[in-house]
Amino acid sequence: MNNVQQKPSLKGRLYCSVFGHNFSVSKKVTYHIKEYKCCHCKKEMTINSKGYLTDLTPKYKEINSVLERIHQNKLTRYSNSQMIQSPVLKMTS
Ligand SMILES: [Zn+2]
Repeated sequence: MNNVQQKPSLKGRLYCSVFGHNFSVSKKVTYHIKEYKCCHCKKEMTINSKGYLTDLTPKYKEINSVLERIHQNKLTRYSNSQMIQSPVLKMTS
């Protein structure tokens, strides 16, 4: 286990205040909702239900984890239905 905490460094924050944050996707919640993290200062953002970028607060983390679970359930159900349909598709060839 690597227990080293990635603390926001002063250098990182200084960089961000000059050049702006450099966000990269840290987590895909659904097709439309993603979580972003700045690689310099570790600031986290997310897309809210209205489609705006907002701070990733504990409340939004909770919402996202629920959305992620619903999304995963949908994916599982979709792949199951695809498996049922596939023999029908094979008959056409
Ligand atoms: Zn930043």
